[in-house]
Amino acid sequence: MSIDAVPARSVDYNRVFAQAIDRLHEEGRYRVFIDILRNKGQFPNARCFAGHNGPKPITVWCSNDYLAMGQHPAVIAAMEEALHDVGAGSGGTRNIGGNTHYHIDLETELADLHDKEAALLFTSGYVSNEATLSTIARILPGCIIFSDELNHASMIAGIRHSGCEKRVFRHNDLAHLEELLAAEDPSVPKLIAFESVYSMDGDVAPIHAICDLADKYNALTYLDEVHAVGMYGLRGGGISERDDAASRLTIVEGTLGKAFGVMGGYIAADRTVIDVIRSYAPGFIFTTSLSPVLVAGALASVRHLKASTAEREGQQAAAATLKTLFADAGLPVMDTTTHIVPLMVGDPVKAKRISDILLREYGVYVQPINYPTVPRGTERLRFTPGPAHDTAMMQELTAALVEIWGRLELRKAA
Ligand SMILES: *Cc1c(COP(=O)(O)O)cnc(C)c1O
Repeated sequence: MSIDAVPARSVDYNRVFAQAIDRLHEEGRYRVFIDILRNKGQFPNARCFAGHNGPKPITVWCSNDYLAMGQHPAVIAAMEEALHDVGAGSGGTRNIGGNTHYHIDLETELADLHDKEAALLFTSGYVSNEATLSTIARILPGCIIFSDELNHASMIAGIRHSGCEKRVFRHNDLAHLEELLAAEDPSVPKLIAFESVYSMDGDVAPIHAICDLADKYNALTYLDEVHAVGMYGLRGGGISERDDAASRLTIVEGTLGKAFGVMGGYIAADRTVIDVIRSYAPGFIFTTSLSPVLVAGALASVRHLKASTAEREGQQAAAATLKTLFADAGLPVMDTTTHIVPLMVGDPVKAKRISDILLREYGVYVQPINYPTVPRGTERLRFTPGPAHDTAMMQELTAALVEIWGRLELRKAA
């Protein structure tokens, strides 16, 4: 071997990786995962393994298991039954051995939930967005996607992977959306992609008005209802059910991992649209289907929340109470019309500091939310009270925050 074959030592890989991590530390947004175990049947109580003296009891305030369905007896029982009946995994992709009867039942249930002909399961909500958006736009030559500026990272990934043109409209801004739609050739395929409940600001899209624009400019619509399914509408069909708009949407997308408390994602649409995604989306085709145990749990959860409104009512009541307590205490609670209760901090280092004090001194777990989840300068704490958070817990939380706000001399509400 000649000396020329020895590669030049030009790239110091370790240094590049270390620098990437250092940048996050410098900005105060290096992510620390909190090590917890939830106590079944006692949500929002959990154990935290951050300390050195064994697990410490904490109260969880930032879970997306919004209605505690992840611990619901009907869900647990369905999962146990499935596990003992058919075993742990599905054993294959949907096409090759992994198309279980549970999957078919759940898709039927979800299609009905959203008033659509058909539905399709994915391994997560992220995958459902990425796979569907990237595939549908590739099927439509020349398609332009109109995307709300606050759309979730999974939608942005799908749009990017579709390789099509994208126009970003200002958040929930109908005039801007119309201006962008009107500027394009009427004969070009168009798709408007947006969310119903925006999970970090807690505001809601004007679904009917967006569908009006879609009708006017002959565009398809894609609605991410991840933070609304299970929680809004008479049967938990989301904001599109509450506003009686489901039939106007081309595709409704949801997760089984948040209010439904289990895991997985899905879309619901006309039979033909579902058939296209089923047949063309790599993120659906080339992956092992969800465990039937998970699917059985999700099925029990969806069915329960179709019939029961107690969880939804409890959640709305808890959110209203917490917002009032925060506002009355002068804390900078953001104005939201939903179950999401964000406190604006506006600085990543301070948000982390508050979160650390809450966990260490008060046994309160709320994760700081930083860029790129939210824009820089709008770092916040995001509380998700649910039916199991009682008023005494909320009063304790408010008192703790008031103490910390004073200690750190943080900005109060105007
Ligand atoms: C969490 C989230 C997703 C992804 O859902 P998962 O099931 O957690 O993968 C998609 N869209 C939005 C808006 C989300 O917040």
